[in-house]
Amino acid sequence: MPCMCSSTACWTAGQPAPYLHLARTFDLVEREKGRIKTTAMLCNMFRSLLALTPDDVLPAVYLCTNKISPDHENIELNIGGSLVVTALEEALGTSRSKIHEMYKTYGDLGDVAQECRQNQMLLAPPRPLSIRDVFSALCKLSAISGSGSAGRRKILVLHLIRSCREMEMKFLVRTLVRNLRIGVMMKTLLPALAHAVVLDGKCSKDPVLSLEGMKSQLQELSTEVAEAYNVIPNLDLLIPYLLREGAAFSASSLPMVPGAPIPPMLARITNGLTQSLKLFHGRAFTCEYKYDGQRAQIHRLSDGSVHIFSRQMKESTSRFPDLVNMIKEQCSTVESSFILDAEVSGVHEELLFTLLERGGKHSSVAIRNIKVDICVFVFDIMFCNGQRLLDCPLRQRRKYIHDLFQEKPGHFELAQQLTVEAAQASVDNSDTLDSMNSFFKLACQSSCEGIMLKTLDVDAGYSASKRCDSWLKVKRDYVEGLGDSLDLVPIGAWYGNGRKAGWYSPFLMACYNPEYEEFQSVCRVMSGFSDEFYKEVKEFYSGDRILPKKPAYYKTDELPELWFSAEQVWEIRGADLTLSPVHHAAIGLVHPSRGISVRMPRYIRSLPDRNPEDCSTASDVASMFRAQTRKMEVSSSSDIQD
Ligand code: ATP
Repeated sequence: MPCMCSSTACWTAGQPAPYLHLARTFDLVEREKGRIKTTAMLCNMFRSLLALTPDDVLPAVYLCTNKISPDHENIELNIGGSLVVTALEEALGTSRSKIHEMYKTYGDLGDVAQECRQNQMLLAPPRPLSIRDVFSALCKLSAISGSGSAGRRKILVLHLIRSCREMEMKFLVRTLVRNLRIGVMMKTLLPALAHAVVLDGKCSKDPVLSLEGMKSQLQELSTEVAEAYNVIPNLDLLIPYLLREGAAFSASSLPMVPGAPIPPMLARITNGLTQSLKLFHGRAFTCEYKYDGQRAQIHRLSDGSVHIFSRQMKESTSRFPDLVNMIKEQCSTVESSFILDAEVSGVHEELLFTLLERGGKHSSVAIRNIKVDICVFVFDIMFCNGQRLLDCPLRQRRKYIHDLFQEKPGHFELAQQLTVEAAQASVDNSDTLDSMNSFFKLACQSSCEGIMLKTLDVDAGYSASKRCDSWLKVKRDYVEGLGDSLDLVPIGAWYGNGRKAGWYSPFLMACYNPEYEEFQSVCRVMSGFSDEFYKEVKEFYSGDRILPKKPAYYKTDELPELWFSAEQVWEIRGADLTLSPVHHAAIGLVHPSRGISVRMPRYIRSLPDRNPEDCSTASDVASMFRAQTRKMEVSSSSDIQD
């Protein structure tokens, strides 16, 4: 048990780390804006955990990121703000109305709880909380279900709240309402941990390091850890492996495990076949149909079980009994574990979407009972029988697929393809362009969205989570205005006028810049919405989702009447892209001081499967802008796509 005094100095090796240690770090980090100092603070915290109780590193990382499990497990904490307020009322002796009143002033339930606790007379010091106490209580909260669950949850929350010391209250309450607000992202957290591992030095590559050597090892390990997390965003796998390997950790040796999804590789937008052929000049590549369905990552474990994950890495297995059976049939004679990338297409497209992306409690029994005819089009393999294939070139990965599977037309097919060898990969080769054009037409006639082009030998690995130059897409609707739509996040709005009075209109839309962790405005959108949608959005963006002020990480010169928290992603299509003095999208990427904006934007649909950080990035917007400029330059070019 941790020491009863309020100091963390009494914490000794082997004892559970006090939660106070984490809360104090959060408090320091919250006050600090600079990333270097924040990294150093987190690094110090991890160093002490590594020195005294390394088992607490994983729960500490989870608590820093406000998560309790890998995203794909879809585990929710299952407690609402109302339950937390009820527990606060009881534990702090402050009335609900007082809490609500204070909330209006502070805008944060953690701050309110902290203030109430400071004014409370305690008869005895609370029993200290440890990091693992808090983490395991959160895990228990997420597992409570069935009758009387609200009461059981309240008891657990009350116990946690009553045990809080110093600033623990503020951060515990924020954790419970899923809004830690210390601004720590993986981008800061993982380097901090990597630094701690290097400085801890237990598994150092070189025990006697010069200052320069130390600096380069800090940098090297941070890069490796970040890369490993991009490919396998699963802390349960990453952290223990990092702690075991120490400074010798390398991203490419982190074992892949079927059942743990990997972020899909994505394609770059191009404006036609000529442009793509120019980009792949002199390199062998394959053209594949770009099927119009939903992406499915298919995992077969060595015990024979099959798991399906959506593009957002959400488990969708239970929604696809037919697909699961199909894979099991395919493998009836072979004992193999694998991870496949595929597109699932079916007759009831809208339904398919619901099945794959919504998952969980939203899908009704009725949906489950409808029979959907599906066909799986397999186009990649990332893991096979214990072997990580990410670094194998696509030609080799394709061979694995061909060796492993038998096609069953209309049910289980390998993506239609046309191979262009390096010697033929040139715009001057009219035969190549002709056969690509015919292939493209066939794809469109087969109800595909267009085609994908992928390098086969050079730079042809599977780059998980990246939008790469080695995968290009040519879509048939690129001729209609913008070559591709943008997936943008509403970050603010104005109050509507006239027919739209009472609703929000227009909305301020933003793309994401992962480099600076900023949302950068792209345009105002006010067309393409139904009245029903306006009502839904009005209800959705209320309460906590309206921010008291513009967050520092929203970049725009626009001044909407309301700022929204970044929650939804909407697909937006427009006429073209222009440089803008007001919008900040991709600022500095194509022009030093101007951003890029979409002309005549209209709303197409919401993308419930996307996280805000997975919307179009600043560099996507810049690529589209450049592609469009090139398209204008070559508009007189001859082939049917260009
Ligand atoms: P889009 O909206 O164009 O589908 P995206 O952002 O979902 O874009 P991209 O990588 O840009 O993903 O485009 C490829 C998408 O096309 C994949 O996500 C996948 O769902 C689908 N697809 C269909 N056929 C293929 C194929 N043969 N190879 C790769 N992806 C394919």
